[in-house]
Amino acid sequence: MSPLGVPTRVTIHHTGFPAGFTSCEPSAIKINLQSILMLHTAPPPEGRGWADIGYHFAVDPAGRIWALRSLAYQGAHVRNHNENNIGVVALGNFDLHDLPDLQFTALRQLLAELRLAFPITDVFGHKHLADNATNCPGAAIVARWPQLSSR
Ligand SMILES: [Zn+2]
Repeated sequence: MSPLGVPTRVTIHHTGFPAGFTSCEPSAIKINLQSILMLHTAPPPEGRGWADIGYHFAVDPAGRIWALRSLAYQGAHVRNHNENNIGVVALGNFDLHDLPDLQFTALRQLLAELRLAFPITDVFGHKHLADNATNCPGAAIVARWPQLSSR
């Protein structure tokens, strides 16, 4: 894996699994995170064959923040834009479900902490860096983007 260096941007994703994900149970969240890890690290064609889960943090529907890939290393979450870019995934499919208030608050809290720790100049949704080729991080997050991404 490549070193991340000094992060200057953050990109928000959703998992976007077809069934969505709304559980607040830690055991269910652990299984959900393990399924993402398997998808990212299993050899192709089953998985992506990456060295680790692609995101640096996950935020669950109960508002818990989970540390994933070490910030020492560049993530694997936006094609051609992973340099100096912290990847945050909101667990759920926000084209199907609303964003729970606890999850929204935790996302804002995480962004505030990252801005304190690093010289972050930009917060993107995945689609903003992908010419809208994806709808990630989902309609319900994009609808709250001004409140989510403002300081
Ligand atoms: Zn994404």
